Amino acid sequence: MRVHLVNPSHLAFGVAVITPRWLYVLASATPASYGDPVITDETLEPLDINSIAAGDVVGIGIHSGNALRGYEIGRLVKARGAHVVFGGIHATLFPEESHELGAATTVVKGDGDLVWGRVIDACAHGTPERIYEGGRVDGERLTKARWDLLPQDRYMWASVQTVRGCPKHCSFCSVWRTDGQKPRVRATDAIVEEIVELRRKGFRFIALADDNFYPVALNDLKMADRRTDKSGYDRLKAIRDERFELMSRMEKLPRDMVFFTQITMEAAEDPEFLDAMRRANIKGALVGIESVTPEGLKDVYKDFNLHGDELAERLKVFRRHGVHVLGSFIFGLPSDTPSTFDATAALAEKADITFAQFVMLTPFPGTVDFERWEREMATDETRIQGIPLTRHWLIPQAVRPKVYSPHPLMAANEIRDRTQGVWDEFYSLPKIWQRSKCVKSLKSRLAFVLVSKLYRQMYANTGIATDSARVSRAEKWARMLAAPTRRLFSAPPMPELQVPS
Ligand code: SF4
Repeated sequence: MRVHLVNPSHLAFGVAVITPRWLYVLASATPASYGDPVITDETLEPLDINSIAAGDVVGIGIHSGNALRGYEIGRLVKARGAHVVFGGIHATLFPEESHELGAATTVVKGDGDLVWGRVIDACAHGTPERIYEGGRVDGERLTKARWDLLPQDRYMWASVQTVRGCPKHCSFCSVWRTDGQKPRVRATDAIVEEIVELRRKGFRFIALADDNFYPVALNDLKMADRRTDKSGYDRLKAIRDERFELMSRMEKLPRDMVFFTQITMEAAEDPEFLDAMRRANIKGALVGIESVTPEGLKDVYKDFNLHGDELAERLKVFRRHGVHVLGSFIFGLPSDTPSTFDATAALAEKADITFAQFVMLTPFPGTVDFERWEREMATDETRIQGIPLTRHWLIPQAVRPKVYSPHPLMAANEIRDRTQGVWDEFYSLPKIWQRSKCVKSLKSRLAFVLVSKLYRQMYANTGIATDSARVSRAEKWARMLAAPTRRLFSAPPMPELQVPS
C-alpha cells in the first residue's frame, strides 16, 4: 500500500512559481511505516493514473479553483480501487460534495497536520470514518515540511509558514473564517531550521506563506492597552515580540536570501517593523489594496486601508524602507465605475509599486460575499451545462464565467475587458522597463522583465481571458518563459550552512 498526495490543476507549466507547501507538510505527517509518499503537483505535470494501485491511499487537497479537477482525479483513482481522501479549504466547507462528486472514502476538515496519520491507518485497516475533524492546530504543533522529497529544479520559490490566521474580516476572503482570527504563530526555531534546510538545497528565494505576516497592528496594541484587563494586550505584545525575534534570527541567514510575504497596509505605519523586515531580507510583500476609492473599501469591509493621494503616499513608505510591494486590486465591486480602472492604473504607477495583480470580484465559498450572493441568487435560474452559478467551481473551466454578480453600471464583458486592459497597461514593455530601475545591473533588469512577463502570462491571460485561443497562447508562453526564469532563482547549494543561534 502506498500513500499518494496530489495537488490538482487543469493547467501544467512544467515549472511552478511556489511550492505547494501542504504536499510536503502532509508528507512529513505520513507515518514512516508507510514509506515516503508519492507526490504529484499537477501544476508541473498531470498525475500518472497508472501509478495508483488498489488499496493505495490518495490524498487530494482542493480549494474552489481546482475542486473540479480534484473530483475527476478522485473518481479515477477510486475506480482503480484506491482510498480517496479529500482535504483543503473547499473540502472543509463542502465535505458532502467530495463524497458525491469526488468518490471520497473520507474527508478531512480543517488542518491535516495531526489527523493525517490516523486517517491513513484507518484506511489501511478498512475502517475509515466518513469525515475527520482536523481542527485548528496550535502554532507550536504545526508540522514542518519534508523538503528532502522536493524534486530538483522545478520551483522558483520554496514556501515556509510562520503564522496562520488573520484578525481582519475582509468580505471577499475566507481565511479569517477557516484559519481563524486568532494568529497561530509557529515557533521561531522550527521556522529558521526549515529555512536553513532550504538554503542548503540551493533555495535562496522563500515565500513566507502566511495569511498575514503582520497580525498585530500598532493600533490593535493601543486599543488593547486602553482596557483595564491587560490580558489581551499581553497576548498581542507577545505575538509582536515573537515576530521581531523571528526577524532578528533571519538577519543572521546568508545575505543572498530573499523573502516575500503578505501583509496589511497598516504595516506602513510601523517603521520599526518595516526596518526589521528589511534587515531580515524580507524584500517584498503582497499588500491587499483592493480598491482606490473609499466606497470600494467599504464594499469589502476594508476601511482600515487608505485611498486617493494618502494611499499612494502610504504605499511609497514600504519602498522607502526597502520592501517592494505586489499590490493586489479587485475590480467589479458594486461601487466601481468605468473611471475606477483608469484611476487604479494611475495609482499603481504613482505609488511606485513593483508588481501588481488585478483580480475580478469572485464570490468564493466561505466568504461573507458568497453567503450574501448565494441568498440573492436563490431564485436565479441560470444554468451552465446544468450547473447553477452559485456552484461556479463545478462549471468546466472552458465555459466558467469570469464575472458573477450583475453590476449596477457595467456589463460582465466590460468589466473583463477593462480588467484585461489594466493588466496590459501595467505590464507593457516600456512600463516594465521603467520599473526595472529598482534593480541595478543590466542582467538584473532583464531578469525583472522576464519575471514580469511570466507573471502576466501565468495569471492575467490564463485567468481572465474567455477566448480559448488566448488562454492556450498564454499557457504556451508561460511554459516557454518558466524554465529560463526558474534558473534565475536558483543558487549554489550551501550544504554546510548552520542554523543561526
Ligand atoms: S484579505 Fe488579507 S487582511 Fe483580509 S482577512 Fe484575508 S488575509 Fe486577512
